[in-house]
Amino acid sequence: MQCCHGLLIDSLEWRSYNAMQHSFRLPENMAKHIFVTGGVVSSVGKGITVASIGTLLKARGVKVAVQKLDPYLNVDPGTMSPYQHGEVYVTEDGAETDLDLGHYERFIGVDLTADANATSGRVYSSVISKEREGQFLGGTIQVVPHVTNEIKRTIMDCATRMSADVLITEIGGTVGDIEGQPFIEAIRQMRKDVGRENVMYIHVTYLPHLASTGELKTKPTQHSVRELRAMGIQPDIIVCRSDYVMPEDLRDKIGLFCDVPRQAVIPLPTVDSIYEVPLVLADADMGDLVAEKLGLTQGRGDLSVWKDIVARLRDAREPVSIALVGKYVELEDTYLSVRESLKHAALMHGKALELFWVHSEQLNDDNVMAQLASAHGIVVPGGFGMRGIEGMIVAARYARENGVPYLGLCLGMQVMVIEFARNVFNSQSVNSTEFDQGVDYPVIDLLPEQREIDKMGGTMRLGSYPCELVAGTRAREAYGVESTSERHRHRFEFNNDYRQQLQTAGMDFSGLSRDGRLVEIAEVRDHPWMVGCQFHPEFKSRPDRAHPLFAAFMKAATESVPPGGQAELPL
Ligand code: GLN
Repeated sequence: MQCCHGLLIDSLEWRSYNAMQHSFRLPENMAKHIFVTGGVVSSVGKGITVASIGTLLKARGVKVAVQKLDPYLNVDPGTMSPYQHGEVYVTEDGAETDLDLGHYERFIGVDLTADANATSGRVYSSVISKEREGQFLGGTIQVVPHVTNEIKRTIMDCATRMSADVLITEIGGTVGDIEGQPFIEAIRQMRKDVGRENVMYIHVTYLPHLASTGELKTKPTQHSVRELRAMGIQPDIIVCRSDYVMPEDLRDKIGLFCDVPRQAVIPLPTVDSIYEVPLVLADADMGDLVAEKLGLTQGRGDLSVWKDIVARLRDAREPVSIALVGKYVELEDTYLSVRESLKHAALMHGKALELFWVHSEQLNDDNVMAQLASAHGIVVPGGFGMRGIEGMIVAARYARENGVPYLGLCLGMQVMVIEFARNVFNSQSVNSTEFDQGVDYPVIDLLPEQREIDKMGGTMRLGSYPCELVAGTRAREAYGVESTSERHRHRFEFNNDYRQQLQTAGMDFSGLSRDGRLVEIAEVRDHPWMVGCQFHPEFKSRPDRAHPLFAAFMKAATESVPPGGQAELPL
């Protein structure tokens, strides 16, 4: 009796468990999956490793998509401080995403979408809203299977919508993080859902260097692989990041302790340029290992574009010195795409980029000459809030008065307009209403229809919008076409009340929205090259295809002689 009763409960439980499982359905078109986890420490370049694996597969003719799953609880990184998160990367469809998506797009040359980045916050809020809508029919909602099903759905949807042959999914953080556990469990389950032969696991770890003995240590890697195996995942490949060259015998050692073949232990020492990473991985046969495991039959692939980029980076000797004036200069990651775009443009002109960061809060009329004297060009990037704005305005004035090429990106364009208008109206009471609502000349402002919505907090212009380029302007010359489309992330716009006056005074509005209402690009007419855009061109620059505005800015910079004299050649 006791026993029968137990059986009955078991079978009931089993049936309801099965019902829950069935709420997760497999898509018809099944992609193959590569899951990349991290071990030991964060910030070892997992995103670049993922982007490089994608590059190798794409070169072989495989249709690759990439996705980043971030275990933190924010719904997206849009509202996170740059101090916490670095750059917010914006996709064509206007998703505010992790900066690793920038690496993926730059390396693989795909346009990703909102599907390509999900956080625990998004996963949990979706599960909770389904629960509120009664979709689970009164069931008890649990991490397994409800949250893991939602994660698996996120993975499958991305693969299906991108029609990928292979989806590479990077799990943010490192193995062992508490909030990462549902993600690790979900990718473990995937092996059963889509078949062992369609799934592989790559673990990226770090080998610390002990200065006292001059050795690279493998123990942390052994521990992180043990942790992963405890959660049911045996890695197929272990990528070992290190700051020193890894001795061959360590491959055997890691292979033995972590139960992978020696050739699947891939050394990835720190290299001069991130664009070398696909070549380093290709030399270690990463492409072949992946193709073999997943049964990809495409050819060996051609990496000549990457070889050419790396060779040109090595050969570029003549420096071009660019000042980046912003308020987060101590954080390299905040302006990541801007830095990469400048590299692409310098490379295009065969120059070595010397980027120096100028803290806008510390820039003023007295020190501007000393701080910017050696710059061939000045960039003022995007940003929010009034901290450091006056320093950026000082930089814009210096650029305008001294004929130094200037590129303003979003906030940098608004700053350029404010500085120009202060001069035209001979008044300091000129500003954006983001920084001062009571000014005499609000040259940057919310659109009238935005003001009402702003009270409800939803006015950010995000994602790709078309832009018509006006004939006879520098912007049009740079693009060489009549119209383009660019990605936005801002709230404020140029105030059309001042368009006529500023135009008469020498500012051209060279890029406009299709209906002509919104100023997308402004430029100073009587200047070698001073252009600001309301969008973020840095999200569309690629290593082998510098963005037209960055390319034209860099050309002007290479032709400019800084007021402080020519920069020294590097040793
Ligand atoms: N803070 C400005 C705005 O909201 C600029 C934003 C940006 O540079 N991304 O319009």
